[in-house]
Amino acid sequence: MLLLYALAQFKNEKIERIAFNDAESVVGPLIQTYGPFNSTTSVTYPYARLANDKSEIWWIEEHEKNASDDLSLTEARNRNLKAGFSDDVLRHLRDNPKLIDLVAINLLERHFPPSLHPDILDAVGLYLGQDEIENVIRKKRDPRFRSIVLAAYYEQCAVCKYDIKMNGAAVALEAAHIQMHSAGGPDEVTNGLALCVIHHKLFDLGAMSVDKDMNVRVSERVVGDWGRKLNDEFHERPIALPRSTSMEPAPEYIHWHNEKIFKGFVR
Ligand SMILES: [Zn+2]
Repeated sequence: MLLLYALAQFKNEKIERIAFNDAESVVGPLIQTYGPFNSTTSVTYPYARLANDKSEIWWIEEHEKNASDDLSLTEARNRNLKAGFSDDVLRHLRDNPKLIDLVAINLLERHFPPSLHPDILDAVGLYLGQDEIENVIRKKRDPRFRSIVLAAYYEQCAVCKYDIKMNGAAVALEAAHIQMHSAGGPDEVTNGLALCVIHHKLFDLGAMSVDKDMNVRVSERVVGDWGRKLNDEFHERPIALPRSTSMEPAPEYIHWHNEKIFKGFVR
């Protein structure tokens, strides 16, 4: 997330050194939203630790280390410490501006489900050149995944049974990967769920999940009137199962989603 922010700063404003207080105000909340559940990761962690990486992509100003060998938050804030890409990386980015987009895509692909990519890019203020980049992403996926998953679930959202069609085609209904494609989740029906766009996004954000008994779980972090509605209507209720038991979500993918994505507790 910090790297994406740094890429955006470089692309938009030619800023090469990121001030800690700027990074903290933007990236801090994003780590809470998009990072793992119970993540205590403060921005100080990637801010300093990235510089230890052998690939030498990151640079940080000289600083003291605290007892756990990390940058202290107080020092980072008080000195408004600077960090950023290493000179080597900056040179490559200057020489080949297209690299910015390619690196960003790579980071997104590796760490976040596709439904969240636009939101994350928006949040860090990074706008990619579309055409060839979209092609790169599309080609890697099996185009049949969507139709197989939607057909398995009778073209209905597995959570709310939303099923609007226009001219015979399902709209705003998507085939979600349970285990992210980039984390090794296959394009198979047992790794898929038909979800409306809202429930797909909530699922990818970890606001909801499905447990091993095929019941919906809603995170206790979900609040608001609609959060209450979501919880009252769907929490601990069974999903709408696919047409055959052989198509049901496989336990290993569900386990992965419960462990890595869901921001709540599963039995
Ligand atoms: Zn739905």
